[in-house]
Amino acid sequence: MSAAPFLDLVNTEHIHDADRVTDRLDEPGAAERLERRWNVGCKLTADDVAALRAFRGILRPAIEELMRTGTLGLDSVEALNAALSRTGPGHALVTVAGGGFAVKERWSDPVALVAASFARAIAEDDPRRIKLCANPHCRWAFRDDSKNRSRRWCSSEACGNVAKLRAFRSRARSRGSE
Ligand SMILES: [Zn+2]
Repeated sequence: MSAAPFLDLVNTEHIHDADRVTDRLDEPGAAERLERRWNVGCKLTADDVAALRAFRGILRPAIEELMRTGTLGLDSVEALNAALSRTGPGHALVTVAGGGFAVKERWSDPVALVAASFARAIAEDDPRRIKLCANPHCRWAFRDDSKNRSRRWCSSEACGNVAKLRAFRSRARSRGSE
């Protein structure tokens, strides 16, 4: 199972700029891809996809709030708890594979699965590591694994290069104005 379904969900929204967004949840096969990636253990219905889309609309602002304030306000915590309460606790399943064991969590509701991955990331990991790419034409969600949590760009070479180019230009400009 993907380590961070909440990042997967936020990143189904491809932001090109403020008015141009591609919603990958609309693409054919999107539900099947998420089923496999998250090992949901059931078919995702059109209602599930609609509920995921609605929850994505809560998740992205929640990450923005975390980045801005370092914490979540009551409204965001309530929205997260509402998503978590969509199902009773999922059950785990142990499987024997490749000479070892694997634990698979099974969820009866995909929104609860995504909400749980976000809840764990903020409660058990470092919430300051959850970020959106600083490139306004990207805003990809990622976990910052860097030592001092200084990463601002997603792993895409393009975003890092945009940043470098911008820094280079502003240096060139300030030299020009001296
Ligand atoms: Zn990016």
